[in-house]
Formats: sequence, C-alpha cells, structure tokens
Amino acid sequence: MPPVLVTILSFVVLALLVWAFLRYTILGRGMSVPLRTMFTTPETAQYPEQPRPVAPRFHGRHQLNRYADGLEKCIGCELCAWACPADAIYVQGADNTLTERYSPGERFAEDYQINYNRCILCGLCIEACPTRALTMTHDYEFSADSRRDLIWDKADLIVDVPPGGEDTPHTDHEVRRRGLNYYGGLAVTPPTLHGGRFEQAAPAPASRAAQVVPTGELPHTSEEARDPAEIGDENRAHGGKR
Ligand code: SF4
Ligand code: SF4
Repeated sequence: MPPVLVTILSFVVLALLVWAFLRYTILGRGMSVPLRTMFTTPETAQYPEQPRPVAPRFHGRHQLNRYADGLEKCIGCELCAWACPADAIYVQGADNTLTERYSPGERFAEDYQINYNRCILCGLCIEACPTRALTMTHDYEFSADSRRDLIWDKADLIVDVPPGGEDTPHTDHEVRRRGLNYYGGLAVTPPTLHGGRFEQAAPAPASRAAQVVPTGELPHTSEEARDPAEIGDENRAHGGKR
C-alpha cells in the first residue's frame, strides 16, 4: 500500500475516533462545550450600566393607573387580591363621596399594598382587574435591604398625575361637568366568542355615556348634599339628556 494512502487512512481513522469520543462519551461531550464556545464571540452584558431590553410582555413590578383627568382607575373591588395565588395583595376599599371622589365608581382603594416578599409576578391580578387599574411595568430593579421595604403601598404604586389632570380627590361636581365616559365608551363588553371566532363587541349606544356619567348638575359643595340615587332618577326621567 502506498505511504500516502496509509497517511490519509490514518487521519480518517483518527478523526473518526475523535468524533466518536466527543459524541458518545460523557467526558467527550463535556469537553465539546468549551471547544465549541471558545471560537464564538463572548456575550457579556454590561449590567447595570447597559441593561438589556426585556420582552414586550415581561412582567415587572405593578403600577396603579389614572384616567387623563387624574381620577384613579382602581375602584377598590378587591378582585386582584382574590385572584392572587400568593396572597400578596391587600386592598381596603372605601366609599367615594360628593365632595371627595377618587375614582369614577362607587368605591375606591383607600389602602392598596403589594407584598413583593410573596409576589411571584405571575400576572393573574392584572388579568382579574376589571378597569385596567392595575398593570405591570418592565421595571425589575426593586430589590430592598429589608422585608418591610418590599411591601409597596398605594403611594409607591400609583402613577403620577398626567399633564392637564389634577390629583385626587375631586368633587362630584367637577367630575360630572367634564361629562367623560370613564368606561371606555365603545368596547364596554369584551370581544365575544361566536362559532369559534372572536368578534368585536357591538359599539355601545351613544346614550350610554349619559347613563354612566350623568351630565346633570350636582349641588355645589357649599350646598346641601343630595342622595346620588335621587339625582340619577331625575336624569333618567329626562332621558339622560340633562
Ligand atoms: S403578579 Fe401574581 S403573585 Fe404577584 S400580586 Fe399579582 S397575582 Fe399575586
Ligand atoms: S386594582 Fe383592579 S382588581 Fe384590584 S381593587 Fe383596583 S379595580 Fe379592583
């Protein structure tokens, strides 16, 4: 056999032996990892100077949202607290009054706490929230030195008042004069399922805004307070046009 052919055959057999060693033995498979990665460009994240962007649906810490005029979206219903599998949310609701209105609903969250010692950032609470008052941000930098500092209260969670809005409380008189539909107007109900396909809910009639947020005049705060139910009856008697 010619020496060149012997040399080539030797290289082929050696290459096969090395391949079988790296492919089929535990030691070889372990050694193949550094062999593969030593020729790739290292990926070193310069954190915290250059934090990497997170995925669009990343679940970071929570925030409590407001409407454009500054009213709070949270109506103190406690659905988020009941949905939480870790029992991490505490909500204490209270009634809005004619002179101190925090949210468009009957009630608002007087106290709202999230215990990040317990929270697993699963997002079930924001799914349960009927008004989108509670959402999650992309912020994951909220570690603390003590367990007490990981309990965030309403002042920590609520967003700043948007430009042009006012901090709560408002008066009913101010709120009703604005004539806003705080429930979103068109898509009051979520998309419904028909024959296996999602279809957008039908637009709500325009008069619904008047039903939800009556435009009738309320007494000024210096006047004697009236029962809101009585005012609602008067508005309905006028077809919600006042
Ligand atoms: S993200 Fe999950 S664990 Fe955290 S408060 Fe919401 S429901 Fe509870
Ligand atoms: S955040 Fe949403 S679900 Fe929780 S109490 Fe407020 S309105 Fe209800």
